[in-house]
Amino acid sequence: MRRIPQVLKMLSQFQAVGQGLFTQGLVSAQGGNLSVKLGEHLVITHRGSPLGSIQEGDLVQTGITKNSRATPLASTELEVHRCIYKNTSALAVVHAHPPYAVALSFTEEEIVPCDVEGRTLLPRVPILSAEIEVKLEELADEIARLIGEHKVILIRGHGSFAVSQLLEEAYYYTVVLERSCRLRYLLKALDVDPGASPI
Ligand SMILES: [Zn+2]
Repeated sequence: MRRIPQVLKMLSQFQAVGQGLFTQGLVSAQGGNLSVKLGEHLVITHRGSPLGSIQEGDLVQTGITKNSRATPLASTELEVHRCIYKNTSALAVVHAHPPYAVALSFTEEEIVPCDVEGRTLLPRVPILSAEIEVKLEELADEIARLIGEHKVILIRGHGSFAVSQLLEEAYYYTVVLERSCRLRYLLKALDVDPGASPI
């Protein structure tokens, strides 16, 4: 498939978001993946690419409904990204492994942020639960359905998916989710009711 010139323009966006996720500890060395929709195609990070240091060769362009020669190189979570683009109006997807959010995914039914920024942007973040051996692509339909309603969701014991019209905004939602979860975690550690008024 011929490389669309926009792909090269997008490189700096992918680099900025990938670096942000990595430096804030929201993905490990080779965890997480990013994509942007381009008409009938999507541009997605290469499988196993280090988000902290994305290079041109780490971006894979393939079809949303059709495979190309590059498809096998794409992130292993390609099918989830495709399903989101087929079923929602999202133009960008960020998948990360934010540690506080993942920790709370084991103890909560959903995340309801108790800080102002989190509550304003993400009033409720559902947590999708599945057996540990279930592959993410088997959950693709359910992920797409929930994310169409909530912008950000958590997969229990795994990580987050965030969508927006812009990659930077989906990244921002991921950061806000993690900050809200860190606060909730700290309040729990202090045995403070997150719904209580501050003294
Ligand atoms: Zn993952």
